[in-house]
Amino acid sequence: MEDVRRSADEIAKMRRAGRIVAEMHERTRAAARPGATTADLDAVAVEVLARRHARSNFLNYHGFPAVICTSPNDMIVHGIPGGYRLAEGDILSIDCGAIVEGYHADAAFTMGIGDVTAEDEALMQVTEQSLWAGIDQMRDGNRLNDIGRAVQAVVEKAGFSVVREYVGHAIGTAMHEEPQVPNYWPGSPGPKLKSGNVFAVEPMVNAGGAGTRLLGDGWSVVTADGRRSAHFEHTIAVTEDGPEVLTVP
Ligand code: MG
Ligand code: MG
Repeated sequence: MEDVRRSADEIAKMRRAGRIVAEMHERTRAAARPGATTADLDAVAVEVLARRHARSNFLNYHGFPAVICTSPNDMIVHGIPGGYRLAEGDILSIDCGAIVEGYHADAAFTMGIGDVTAEDEALMQVTEQSLWAGIDQMRDGNRLNDIGRAVQAVVEKAGFSVVREYVGHAIGTAMHEEPQVPNYWPGSPGPKLKSGNVFAVEPMVNAGGAGTRLLGDGWSVVTADGRRSAHFEHTIAVTEDGPEVLTVP
C-alpha cells in the first residue's frame, strides 16, 4: 500500500472541504421531506458547492451525473438523484463530497423521512455507532484493520450485517486512494496507522443478509434480500492527539 502522510497544510484544506460537506449534509437533511424528490436534494447540494466556491468530486466521477448520491430504503449506496419522491416511513442515505484547492472530503448519513419503524431506527443508530467505534481506532500505532474489526463487532452484536463488496478508503488529492478500509476483519491486521493518514470510514450495514446486487443503471447498489440498509461516513485524520473528524461544521 501507499503510506501517504498528509501535512498540517494539507489537512487544513481537507478540513475546509469537510466543513462544506457538513453544510451539504445540513441543507439536504432539511430538504428531505415527504414529497421532495432526490433531484431536489441534489439541487440543494449544488447550491452549497457554488456558494462556497468548492468543486464536486462526485460529478462526472466515472460518469456519475450528480453531486450527491441518494440511496433510499433497500438501496445501499451510489443511488442517482432523480424523480424518486420521498415518502413518510422511508429511510434515505445521502452521500456528499467536495474539493477545496485540490483536497477532497467525503461523508454520508442516513435519515428517516418522518416516522420510521423501530427496526429502521435501530439500523441507523447501530450503523452510526459502528462508524464512531471505527473512528476511535484511528490512533497512531494501531493497525488499519482495527477499524473494521471494531465496526463489525458493533454491527453483528446488534444482529445486522456488514457489506463486504464496498469499503472505505484513504482520501486526499483524490477521493479514492489506497489503501481500502474494510468494515470487517479481513483476516490480517494490515499496516500500522500513522499521524497524517486520512481515511474515509464508511460502514454500510444491512438489516438482513450482507449480499448486494448492482442495478441496471450501473450505479445503484441494493441489498440482495430487499431489506433495508444504512450508511454513515466521515473523513478522519490520524493525529498525534487521536482521530480528528474533518467532515464536521
Ligand atoms: Mg461517500
Ligand atoms: Mg467514501
